Amino acid sequence: MKSIALIGAGFSGLGMAYALKKEILEFDHYEKNPALGGNWRYGVYETVHIISSKKTTSFQEYPMPSSYPDFPSSGQMLAYLESYADTFHLKENIQFDSDIIDISPHGERWILTFSGGEKKIYEFVIIANGHHWDPKYPDIKGSFDGEIIHSKDYKNPEILKNKRVLVIGGGNSALDIAVEAARFSISSHISMKSGRWIIPKSIFGIPSIEFLQPWIPDPLLRQLVQNLVLLEIGSFEKYGLQNPDYTVLDKHPTINSLFLYYLQHGRIVPHKNIESVRGNTFTFVDGSQYEADLLVCGTGFHMSFPMLQSLDLRYSSRGIPELINGLFPRKYKNLILFGGVGQPRYGAGPVISAAAGLVAKLLPIQKEIQLSLGELFFRMGQNPLESEVIDPFTTMRRAEALGKMTGFLPFLDQVLRMPFLEGLYKHRENDIMKKFNLPAPQKNYPETNRKANSAFTNSYK
Ligand SMILES: Cc1cc2nc3c(=O)[nH]c(=O)nc-3n(C[C@H](O)[C@H](O)[C@H](O)COP(=O)(O)OP(=O)(O)OC[C@H]3O[C@@H](n4cnc5c(N)ncnc54)[C@H](O)[C@@H]3O)c2cc1C
Repeated sequence: MKSIALIGAGFSGLGMAYALKKEILEFDHYEKNPALGGNWRYGVYETVHIISSKKTTSFQEYPMPSSYPDFPSSGQMLAYLESYADTFHLKENIQFDSDIIDISPHGERWILTFSGGEKKIYEFVIIANGHHWDPKYPDIKGSFDGEIIHSKDYKNPEILKNKRVLVIGGGNSALDIAVEAARFSISSHISMKSGRWIIPKSIFGIPSIEFLQPWIPDPLLRQLVQNLVLLEIGSFEKYGLQNPDYTVLDKHPTINSLFLYYLQHGRIVPHKNIESVRGNTFTFVDGSQYEADLLVCGTGFHMSFPMLQSLDLRYSSRGIPELINGLFPRKYKNLILFGGVGQPRYGAGPVISAAAGLVAKLLPIQKEIQLSLGELFFRMGQNPLESEVIDPFTTMRRAEALGKMTGFLPFLDQVLRMPFLEGLYKHRENDIMKKFNLPAPQKNYPETNRKANSAFTNSYK
């Protein structure tokens, strides 16, 4: 048996598998589904096209084919991942239909329990279980007599036909589904609790995401994106939307051109927050009302690691686990949560390539040092993620810098364990507790509101 277990064969897991192979590290690769591709095979709706462009979404080591359009479809994304796995001979190493339900410490090793009851022990575990699968539902006062789905359950426009549809949310899935409803349903309304920066998919014919360039300083970049958006579309109030109350790029970007088009054609009607629902009638905070047959919750996802129930992973009040650089828990050695937290405001591929390359270089180092990689990086001044939105360029630069200094890490491990430095870490610890509003260590990941119907109790914030 090999000493590394890699869990998940989606975009992240495949990128990680490539990096492990490149470093000639042997590993067992597990996937709970019968085929690879994760979200791009099982998660997304049939009609989805990426919002990041092919250029910014490809793995660094494997560009998408030149025949692909700027915004490939879900089918093309899946074909790309299949082709990546074939090219680098990753598929033959994947054990499909292998669902890991528990991972618990076993000394400095890990014991994995599979859904069939089998157990296996590994020295290292890398979890790439994704973060678009555990739906978040809104809390809404009242009760709704119609049908409720989450954007995750939306597969094709059939479900929209002959219905009055209300979509909740301001992210990419919510806007995409509101657009589909504008084309296929009786009526399409959307409730957005606050204003969002909605970035057109292309500006001057160039995919908008490609305006994000590593050489532009962040404040200038924000100003540039903000000006381009306002130049292209004007004020959001013109479309009946609220103006955003945050700086562009502070949240995961919402990228959509057709949404604004259908708003201007009256095919999508925007609303503010929902006040309550009774029967089929939704009342919004401004007193307006809408009768709906179908409610689509485009309200996002929880970051969940159900197989880690027995661990003391701390979560911030925003539900983000305390992982240094979004990868390494401080308390545990030999455990890496890869790609399950953090969303790059960019395409996934380049960030996965950079992070996977770093992780593969660090695994042998972890064997040589006493501190966990998370604790070592914490003592070196690195932080847990404050928000799920990741700046892709900072992440890639940091991965490159840390990758270059792997040779020094055993020395730093010795220095940073010296007792006279303890006070410094206490100070940083308190700082982080305050900043992240971290509760006392908790055993389980936060209780999530998984049942749609239980959503209709409190007010929807
Ligand atoms: C509607 C939509 C549009 C998107 N658009 C874009 C875009 O334009 N650009 C972009 O870059 N990204 C986009 N994304 C994000 C997308 O999720 C990522 O591109 C990518 O799929 C993330 O890959 P992943 O491997 O981290 O997660 P996933 O694709 O979810 O893969 C996780 C894998 O882990 C497996 N797994 C989970 N738990 C276990 C377990 N216990 N045991 C064994 N296996 C397990 C799952 O079966 C799955 O195969 C979009 C997402 C959605 C939902």
